[in-house]
Amino acid sequence: MKNSLTHWWGSLLSFFFPRFCPGCSSELLPYETPACLHCQTTLPFTHFEHVHNNPIYEKLSQWTPLEEACSIFYFEADSLLQRLVYELKFKKQQQIGYWLGILAGQKLLQTPYEQCTALVSLPLHPKRQRQRGYNQVHLFCRALAATLSMPYTPSVIRRIKNTRQLSLNTTKDRFHEMDQAFEMNSSSVPCMPHWLLVDDIITTGATLQSCGHTLLETPGSKLSIVTLGCRM
Ligand SMILES: [Zn+2]
Repeated sequence: MKNSLTHWWGSLLSFFFPRFCPGCSSELLPYETPACLHCQTTLPFTHFEHVHNNPIYEKLSQWTPLEEACSIFYFEADSLLQRLVYELKFKKQQQIGYWLGILAGQKLLQTPYEQCTALVSLPLHPKRQRQRGYNQVHLFCRALAATLSMPYTPSVIRRIKNTRQLSLNTTKDRFHEMDQAFEMNSSSVPCMPHWLLVDDIITTGATLQSCGHTLLETPGSKLSIVTLGCRM
């Protein structure tokens, strides 16, 4: 009885408020979210989580002592993933973050990333967060942490420097700009943590490395990094 009511309600909703796939624009069935099942199978996984010396690890470990680092997806221009991230960032479609978080978490199960003990999102400066209304990675991180049965501890670190639009600067400028941009909130730091630092899309990695250096100031800590996407 309950199932048929749910089905009836889903059909009614999609009749009055049809939803469309951000990948192929076809109308979504009630159980399809946030993209149609066909487009979901085309998401470009990197499988870097199974390769220690992958390109993300090579890039980030040059300047920061790391246990592991990877991106879950290739982030390509005009792709389904790009459209999903746009909807999440600028249209506040937070359920997309949750869905991507579960997907990413499932990829990291039974990999070395399961050894991490506390998940931290790359913090936005409070001013930037006020402008945007929320940190788009929070729900992604919450779902990722829940899938990995790991505590999510976003309050252990804060951003104290509001940097300029970093994409406009050179790599050297970005490293200089990010110096001393973060500060630990020592009252809530767990004992000897293995941090899993999480961000959406990696570009130069300067922000992640700066944040990582600050996290590693915690005595006895280790650091791994994962991002949702990377441009190759
Ligand atoms: Zn589709």
